[in-house]
Amino acid sequence: MTADQTEDAAPPILRLAGVTKTFGPIRAVDAVDLDIRDGEFFTIVGPSGSGKTTLLRMLAGLEKPSAGDILLRGERVNEVPANRRPTAMVFQSLALFQHKTVGQNIEFALKMRGIAQATRRARAHDLMTMLRLPHDYYSRPVTRISGGERQRVALARALASDPAILFFDEPLSAIDYRLRKQLEVELKDLHRETGKTFVYITHSLEEAMVMSDRIGIMRQGRLIQIGTPDEIYTRPLNKFVSEFMGEVNVLEVEQGGDGALHAREVARALKGPKLPDGATRGHLVIRPEALRFLGSGETADNVLEGELYNEYALGSRVQYHVKIGARMFVVERLREQRAAAAPGTTVTVGWNAADSIIVPD
Ligand code: ATP
Repeated sequence: MTADQTEDAAPPILRLAGVTKTFGPIRAVDAVDLDIRDGEFFTIVGPSGSGKTTLLRMLAGLEKPSAGDILLRGERVNEVPANRRPTAMVFQSLALFQHKTVGQNIEFALKMRGIAQATRRARAHDLMTMLRLPHDYYSRPVTRISGGERQRVALARALASDPAILFFDEPLSAIDYRLRKQLEVELKDLHRETGKTFVYITHSLEEAMVMSDRIGIMRQGRLIQIGTPDEIYTRPLNKFVSEFMGEVNVLEVEQGGDGALHAREVARALKGPKLPDGATRGHLVIRPEALRFLGSGETADNVLEGELYNEYALGSRVQYHVKIGARMFVVERLREQRAAAAPGTTVTVGWNAADSIIVPD
């Protein structure tokens, strides 16, 4: 019995048991076990080629597993095609009908089911209100609305048939940063408003962190870690997961006889968490925001001197690159905690042992 089952009395809306997909010699998805709870926002994150799309396509009924079972509310659905499942998919390309209007796109699935025009129209207008699309867009061709509006039409179209689960195949990956950030928030709000199960795939852990209740990290066809954004952020399973989170400082360390951690790249003994029993080496992970600049008289468990290489404004925060030994460290501070130093100057940076973690390979 998995932890999910003991915690949660309700059966999962989706259960995957040993789900595998092979393409000739390639194991695109390799024995994945997973329970997705009714109403949760679950995101699968992984690099290109890790098997995310193949896994999602099997969940949606667009691909059949080579082995293993997919249960939807307890019923085996391996052989049930997409159009016979209570699910809908939003694709990266959105796959809108370019020659149709906003209204025709939203109502498409309802028309296929023979639902009367007046009912379809009322449903489309309700969805347009929910997605904050102006009602006079109903008769407009989808080619004459903005990219963000097209995203909302694709969402309305997916929601029209009232599916229990919505699948999302990287719908925001081709969108510019500002609009993407806005749509991430809108999607999370839409999830809350509809109460439906959302299963989302992305290569961006940052995007996943913003929206998801839980995240599964995929690597080479396997789900290697499943947890809440907070669990993944504070307790990454290994170096791969910690580096996937973006700009973190990872130092290879060895346990010295003196109990200290020796980091060759900075030629120093460092204070940090203990290596797991039996291990002699590991990776010390220090987040950019755990590092601070030390003025005279200030101290920390670990203090290193380096050269301030450059400064990058990130809105309310500022990022610094600091060259220490053979390594470029990333330091992130709030604007009001900016370093009073110019590039090229020697600076002292520090962090406390409790603000770092040790991860295996
Ligand atoms: P990306 O982020 O680039 O979309 P992904 O994580 O979604 O990647 P998949 O598209 O699922 O990864 O691919 C996983 C592996 O399976 C890759 O090695 C890919 O080349 C292979 N693969 C996927 N579909 C097919 C197919 N139809 N035929 C053969 N190999 C395939």
